[in-house]
Amino acid sequence: MTATPRIVLLPGDGIGPEIVAAARRLLEALGEFAFSEREVGGCSIDAHGTALTDQVLAACRDSDAVLLGAVGGPKWDTTDPAAPRPEQGLLGLRKGMGLYANLRPVRPSPALISASPLREERIAGTDLLVVRELTGGIYFGDSGRDGDAAHDTCEYSEGEIERIARTAFESARRRAELGGHAARVTSVDKANVLETSRLWREVVGRVAGDYADVELEHLLVDNAAMQLVSRPADFDTILTENLFGDILSDESAMLTGSLGMLPSASLGAEGSPGLFEPVHGSAPDIAGRGVANPLATFLSVALMLRHGFDRAEDAARIEAAVDAVLDRGLRTPDLLGGTVVQPPMAEDPTPETEVGTEEMTDAVLQEL
Ligand code: NAD
Repeated sequence: MTATPRIVLLPGDGIGPEIVAAARRLLEALGEFAFSEREVGGCSIDAHGTALTDQVLAACRDSDAVLLGAVGGPKWDTTDPAAPRPEQGLLGLRKGMGLYANLRPVRPSPALISASPLREERIAGTDLLVVRELTGGIYFGDSGRDGDAAHDTCEYSEGEIERIARTAFESARRRAELGGHAARVTSVDKANVLETSRLWREVVGRVAGDYADVELEHLLVDNAAMQLVSRPADFDTILTENLFGDILSDESAMLTGSLGMLPSASLGAEGSPGLFEPVHGSAPDIAGRGVANPLATFLSVALMLRHGFDRAEDAARIEAAVDAVLDRGLRTPDLLGGTVVQPPMAEDPTPETEVGTEEMTDAVLQEL
């Protein structure tokens, strides 16, 4: 990596430009970075007729990390299969940057725990990571129609399984070191039915041999879906394939009850740039009003610092600052209505204060 890390900013559409501008302020407060801002999604369709140009992809591949806001909006909704769609920008980035691992940490902020649809005693202590394979499986296999029938094919090679398994074991190890707990991977498959899952289980088991310090358990996907809501705090690192990961990561996201709080990282081969983005979409219903919650994007910046730049301390500073502003009762409108959790004997519960994107950003910068 060059001395000054080079970050490509892709604000995208809807609230994307607002939250990425806020994230840029956060990064500027943390150190020196060289930024280059580019178009992706709907705004790129308007300007260039395609959701991702070759030049933007080349700039991303040549960077040290990419921060994305969100893409899409009603303006570009179409059922015409030939028309360009904003999400093609995302798929193009994943494919073009070789991003085969998607990491989604789920750690409900203590002050927002009452926003979870689960009872507090169930959700308390939840701190898990979903590691999803992103470029293989049924989403990328042969598909088609034959008369009145249709098919989608699920395929995985040993190499594809091995590299994502290594990502999960390495992540579990790093989480254990930081958290001072035992390292654990839960591999999720459907090995009682699917041949790709039996290969998955075999390869994951073999890779586990290189990580004697990491405990491995296998869980069938239907069981995993149930366990995630009945005992979420028991999970540490969940390793799974593309389709199962798509569903389970959204299920895990809902555990926190607040879409505006969830970050994600998509990573490729060692040394290549990763893509960091909030889990939520472009929220066209609130775009341009200055009320978007920037915290998921800030937590995505924390993932960038931890996984992209090996700056775990700065990442932890951001996470602590986010927790602190929530503890103070600051809420963007999407977070209002929860209860601020208080120490048992507190006399005056901290009242919630409604703030916009800019005030929330100021408060986080102050806490840093
Ligand atoms: P969405 O996540 O954009 O919004 C869902 C609801 O959550 C909305 O009410 C929105 O106002 C609210 N919300 C989301 N993020 C918020 C934030 N940071 N602060 C405050 N409120 C927030 O999902 P949607 O409405 O289904 O999709 C809108 C557009 O976003 C669609 O075009 C969709 O295709 C696109 N989308 C993009 C991505 C991405 O870029 N990664 C992901 C999902 C959806």
